[in-house]
Formats: sequence, structure tokens, C-alpha cells
Amino acid sequence: MPVLPDLIPLAEAQRRVLDGVGPLPAVSVDLADAAGLVLAGEVGSALTVPAWANSAMDGFAVRSADIAGASAAGPVTLPVLGEVPAGRAPDVELAPGTTLRIMTGAMMPPGADAVVPVEDTDAAAGASDVPAAVAVFAAARPGANVRAAGSDVEAGVTLLGAGRALDPAAIALLAATGHASVTVHRPPRVAVISTGDELVPPGVPLGPAQIHDSNSLTLAAQAAEAGADVRRLGIARDTLDDLLGLVREAVAWADVVVLSGGVSVGAHDHVKAAFSAVGTLDVWRVAIKPGRPFAFARATAGGRTVRLFGLPGNPVSVFVTFELFVRPVLRRLAGHPRGFDRPVRTVRLAEPIRGSSGRLTVARVVLAPDPARPDGLVARSSGGQDSHMLFSLARANGILFVPPDEDLPAGADAVAWELRAPG
Ligand code: AMP
Ligand code: MG
Repeated sequence: MPVLPDLIPLAEAQRRVLDGVGPLPAVSVDLADAAGLVLAGEVGSALTVPAWANSAMDGFAVRSADIAGASAAGPVTLPVLGEVPAGRAPDVELAPGTTLRIMTGAMMPPGADAVVPVEDTDAAAGASDVPAAVAVFAAARPGANVRAAGSDVEAGVTLLGAGRALDPAAIALLAATGHASVTVHRPPRVAVISTGDELVPPGVPLGPAQIHDSNSLTLAAQAAEAGADVRRLGIARDTLDDLLGLVREAVAWADVVVLSGGVSVGAHDHVKAAFSAVGTLDVWRVAIKPGRPFAFARATAGGRTVRLFGLPGNPVSVFVTFELFVRPVLRRLAGHPRGFDRPVRTVRLAEPIRGSSGRLTVARVVLAPDPARPDGLVARSSGGQDSHMLFSLARANGILFVPPDEDLPAGADAVAWELRAPG
């Protein structure tokens, strides 16, 4: 009888895998390649934006005093001396009692302090010819429809702090303030390996006793979603030699290696031996269902710390254990201040959900708005809960935690993670 390691609670297992995990070194990347990466330091602005006052509308630049009395009943007519298009600095000062046609974003001519929108004049919107004169139907306050210099960003301010993930709005701000590159944490490199003599890739017709390798695609998609740079290294046959070959290749490149299968105590399970050959193995069993067998190791290669995860083979166990253990590690390596980011909700059960003895059950559920409670959510099982059932996994938009040794009745409250937005 093999001696089984202690069964440890989920939180303890998460603490062990996250121990010592911090952001990867800073690198400089082109802003165009920086979406989703995390800033390694704060970023300031050398520029004032807008750098100069410009028009917020297509219309006519005026001295507001000239049209103080204008109304629909008593328009003020001004000669139009020319035009200021975007991208050309006006070369003349606006003389009192005159106007210049101006486009959105074009530089305000000296002397002008307001823009009358084309809609408040008798000029045709979109006309190509500049009219000789224009009748203005409404007064404008000084500054009306003018974007003042520095109204968005003053030179010298801090734009974004360290730890900010570069979402599209952050990218927009950095581009507008002239940043061509940014200093971010290098995204984690993740190598994915499947193990099992029964596996063939999707696309290869199944022979007798064969199944398609789904885990390596699941894990690659999950790692990419978590912001990693992913390589799938293929399927290791159930021999230590074959597995070790791929594990060594993985360790030579990756920050995180994720294997599935071959981690329990079956006669053909070689993951632990392979981990021991390249690093320090740390084996435990986690008191969760699915996902009890688990192997973890640390290795060093080329100055990098490499973390190796041996996840259970069952496809749902793979998905769940990645969420619970690997995703937070990848996020921390990427520089996110928080490893755990899934929205945690207290939800009401629309139907009973069974737990299991001695283990925390991680049920796959459909979360939906609760008709009885504004902003509340109800949860029901997404379908079959066996660890090979991917159809019900794909229906789920959350995972729900049933405490050990409990069955939860309909109407009970439980804690769930949102994996996709409910509703
Ligand atoms: P194992 O832990 O290797 O005994 O695998 C447990 C179960 O997961 C078995 O039913 C395997 O066929 C299945 N399994 C293992 N690896 C994969 C994979 N890459 N894709 C789909 N199923 C797998
Ligand atoms: Mg196997």
C-alpha cells in the first residue's frame, strides 16, 4: 500500500503554491504589444494634452464679444476670412468682427475665444467651399466649444501606477501622451504537456481505446486567458523517458509547466518521478472534489524559478484545479497585485446541491439574476457533476463551493466564483 500524503484544505494548498510568487522582471515593450500586460512602475506624462487650445466642434471661431447679441431673431453676420483645418497652425490672428471656419480638433486661432457650431449658423454643414460670410444665430460664452490646453493632462502628472493592467483605456492614455513603449512585467511563459497512451490530438481519427487530448487545449486556453505566453509541447507517452524528455524541454523555457494526468498512484503514472528528476517535488492531496491528486515542484533553470504543476487527468479536474491554483500564480507572476480575481459572490441555491464527505466540493453551476433580490444571483447545477463531463462544464458560468460533509438545500446561501458574467 503506498503511503498517501495528508489531505490538506484548499486554502492551505493555495498558500503553498503561491508561496514566494512575485512579479517577473520588468521589460520594455512596444505600446502596440502591451495590451493586457502589467506596468512595472508608475508612468508620468512629459506632455500637456491637449498641447494647445482647439475646437471641440466643426463651426466658426469667433471673438465671443462680437456675437454677444446674436439670436435666431437677430443674427449677427460676420465675414469668413478663411479656414483652419486640423493639422495646420493658423497663420493669422482673428481680426475683431470676423470669423474663420474651423474643424474639430483644429488649433484655435489667436484672438478667438469661442467656437459657434455650424448648426447655429446659416452655413451648410459639410459644404466644401468656405462661405464669404456667415449669419450666427446664437451667442457663445468665452471658452464655448473650446478644449483648453491641458484640460486633459498636465505635463508632469502621474498617469498610471505600478500594477495597472494595460486595458484599452490605459493604452489610449499612454498613446495620447506620446509613449511608444512601456515598462511592464514580462508575461509568464507556460508550457503545457498532456500525458497518456490513450491520447490523440483532435483531428486524428480515434483508434480503439483512444480519446482526444482535450486537456492541453483547455489549459492553453486558460493560460492565455490569464495573460500567459503559452506553448503546447504535445503528448507524453506513459513512460518516464518520454515524459522526462518533454518536462526537460519545458523547464528550459517556461516559468510554469502544467501537466495533466499521470499524477495519481496508477502503475503508469510517472509525473512525480519526472518532477523529482528536474526539481524539488512537493506532493499533497487537496481535500477538494474534483481534483484531489496533485503534484507540485520547483526547479531552477537559467536563473529562473520554474513551477511545475501536475494536475489530475480528468478534464473537469484539470479545468477546476487550473482556476484554483495555476491562474492565481500566473496573475502574480504577470504583476497583478491580486492573484485571485474572479468575482466572489454569495448566491442563493435554486435547487439542492450535494457535497461530499471530507472534501470541499467545487460544483459547476449556472448563475443567473435572482428575480427575488435585486443584484442577487441564484445558482443551479450546470448538469452532470462527474469529472469527465465537459458538456455541463461548458454550460457553467461559475463554480460554487459546498463545504465538506454538507448537502446544501434549495434556498441556502453559498459562495461562488463568477467565471463569466451571469445573465
Ligand atoms: P490519469 O490521471 O492519467 O489516470 O487520467 C485520468 C482520466 O483523465 C482518464 O480517464 C484519462 O483518459 C483522462 N485524461 C488524461 N489526460 C487527458 C487529456 N489530455 N485529455 C482528455 N482526457 C484525459
Ligand atoms: Mg494517464
